Amino acid sequence: CLGAIRAAQPSLNAFISIASDDHVLGLARASDERHARGLPLSEIDGALIAVKDNLCTTTMPTTCASKMLANFTSPFDATPVQRLQKAGAIVVAKTNMDEFGMGSFNLNSAYGPAINPRFPLDTPVVTGGSSGGSAAAIAANLGLFAALGSDTGGSVRLPAAFCQVVGFKPSYGRVSRHGLVAYASSLDTVGVLAPTVANARAIYDVIAGPDAQDSTCLPEAPPQASSIDLKQLHVGIPVDYRIAELSEEALASWSWAIDRLTQLGAKVTPVRLPQTPKALAAYYVLACAEVSSNLARYSGVEYGHRAEHQDQATFHQMIAKSRAEGFGPEVQRRIALGTHCLSRTMYDSYYLNAQRIRAAIRAEFASVFETAQANSVHVLLCPTAPFVAPQLKAAQALSQVAAFAMDVFTVPASLAGLPAISVPTDASGPLGVQLIGPYGREDVVLSVASALS
Ligand code: GLN
Repeated sequence: CLGAIRAAQPSLNAFISIASDDHVLGLARASDERHARGLPLSEIDGALIAVKDNLCTTTMPTTCASKMLANFTSPFDATPVQRLQKAGAIVVAKTNMDEFGMGSFNLNSAYGPAINPRFPLDTPVVTGGSSGGSAAAIAANLGLFAALGSDTGGSVRLPAAFCQVVGFKPSYGRVSRHGLVAYASSLDTVGVLAPTVANARAIYDVIAGPDAQDSTCLPEAPPQASSIDLKQLHVGIPVDYRIAELSEEALASWSWAIDRLTQLGAKVTPVRLPQTPKALAAYYVLACAEVSSNLARYSGVEYGHRAEHQDQATFHQMIAKSRAEGFGPEVQRRIALGTHCLSRTMYDSYYLNAQRIRAAIRAEFASVFETAQANSVHVLLCPTAPFVAPQLKAAQALSQVAAFAMDVFTVPASLAGLPAISVPTDASGPLGVQLIGPYGREDVVLSVASALS
């Protein structure tokens, strides 16, 4: 696996750090011995894992793909990483990403873009973002069992669709965020990218559950894995997701999935989610507002890059220079946007309105899943992305707003904190479809996803 990672790195750029052979071999030998004695620590003892570079690890740096944290190694492991290691899994590399998670194509990395291994490398295609390195690492078949990613507005699901792997985002609060470097704290979740739903589930089973280190982590244990009787399953098709911009490929993969679930005996019904068109704008206001506050800590004083400065520079000039040098253009843009949205004269019309839309979206989802209602559904089925992965050059030429629009189908579930998964749909072109479940029902989403894949 390490050999495959090193061989793939020059063409895919999927990794930011790679563990040493000695470190990995030592852990692998210990795991082999446990297996030989018939005493593995868990189902995933010895599994090789890659971790997105915004999850803290003590064995490798955690850069968030930012110059700001280029030399930062965490003194502790993130809770999900710690749990995986306790179960015997081995972290072999840290993966490339959009800086601090901000982006949809992995173009906003201080280390350059990751490249999609599903397409010819002479005309490079993007991986999607922000967990692009994790998706590419799985798609390239390097011997990894799974990779951790993070999903604030689609960053696990979008690259999963673009690279045709499974991408699972649990409910907000299901997996501890302790040690996940904050982007937008009310939306951030830790997710899994994997070659199969079974692998994603095995990792999720280990990382999910209460954690005293994260006060937003759900106190109750996750529901046991269930296997839904597909003949009793009601699948909702959100007609409001059928937007004019939807490509033929996305439409075809959606129809393919609808047909497949129908053949398996599920009942498919159209549902309305009329607040959907407002989700994208609300998401970007809220996410940027939280960025402006979360990234204030990188001043070059306690954390991060400190610029060379003249002795006569003031304290504030030193901070300004450090931030100007350390943050890339997209991060700077979002800090400015968020600060603007939170300013006294703008707060009501931007931030408060976005919060109202968020509440309306959450209520709208809850009502379609409301079991007391006659036409309620167990799960929603919709596209993950409106298009197949664009070529690198085409993505670089897109405007900022066009890039934001890539997240049109992923941000609603993020605003509502719902569990969602993207599963590949080879049958209808290189894309994925998304299943969204009721809050806290990862079991439903995983079970339907395994039927679909
Ligand atoms: N593309 C979205 C953004 O840039 C989502 C990113 C994410 O989920 N981390 O904010």
